[in-house]
Amino acid sequence: MKFKQIISAAVCFMAVLNVSGQSYSQLSGYTFEKGNKYVGTLIGKEGPVKLIGAGSEKFRLKGYKLYVNTKALNDKWRDVMIADNENHIDTFRIVRNDFLKNPVVAHRGAWKNTGETENSIGSLKKAIELGCSGSETDVHLSGDSVIYIHHDPKLQGVAIEQTTSAELSKLKLSNGEQLPTLEAYLQEVMTQNKTKLVLEIKASIVSKERSLALTKKVLNMVHEQKAQAWITYISFDWDVCKLIRQLQPYANVEYLNGDKSVGELSENKMNGLDYHYSVLKKNEAIFKEAGEKNIDVNVWTVNDEADMDWLLKNKADFITTNEPEILLKKLAK
Ligand code: MG
Repeated sequence: MKFKQIISAAVCFMAVLNVSGQSYSQLSGYTFEKGNKYVGTLIGKEGPVKLIGAGSEKFRLKGYKLYVNTKALNDKWRDVMIADNENHIDTFRIVRNDFLKNPVVAHRGAWKNTGETENSIGSLKKAIELGCSGSETDVHLSGDSVIYIHHDPKLQGVAIEQTTSAELSKLKLSNGEQLPTLEAYLQEVMTQNKTKLVLEIKASIVSKERSLALTKKVLNMVHEQKAQAWITYISFDWDVCKLIRQLQPYANVEYLNGDKSVGELSENKMNGLDYHYSVLKKNEAIFKEAGEKNIDVNVWTVNDEADMDWLLKNKADFITTNEPEILLKKLAK
């Protein structure tokens, strides 16, 4: 893996990314706003690049800065293809920023009051239907390196990490769905542009190496599926968060474990904290410190109405809950 840290926009093409032996480019932004024509700066390429393919007339590259003609572009999203001199092609999905601004993140999807199974495609669909700004989910790596959606390391007594995808694909969730893969989950979330996926990278029960291998695989898949605009990454594992930041300077990353100060998160260029509400109850100053350092405050898992009220009063950016219906009702008042 080769990576040279980006120093500034002017020299950003020093960055060379090579994840799992596969090099690719990235942008500093994947969404566009109406009337806001700048999308982002392309990184990871060296030498001249040009726009190619159908629809490229909707975009302009000036140097390595990508602009969109919002007047000509009414679509919710559009893929833009970029080629370098050696005809290496990268495709990016640029998404109109219709993402909801409410603080409601459905924990493992919306399952508790919907009859769906947690972490199923069905629970993701329900979170989208409800109008949550985010739907949280968890991923593990199978024995043969396929990424699966599930909370616990085991499903029906079967250890995901020590089982092949051929065996795992035979397992059914309680709502009748197959155990979902991350690929299927990304395909589902990308049918719309209102609800994002809050994607928790679970630490391996086998080794740190496997946690980091899972992280790289997830980043690769998100790149391949062109899903960057939809994703916030979260993890309890600090090394996982740091690896995401290193490989994806512009990905949205929040740390879960509650033991880093706002200052440490800011120094390590994290976008947010995602802490248990008890951590914030003990130290209410976090709200103010986070606001000053531009660190998003996400809080889990908040199911009690009094706790929701307290977090709304303190203007938490995101509240992760098994009761998204209750929280949405409060916000509608
Ligand atoms: Mg989780």
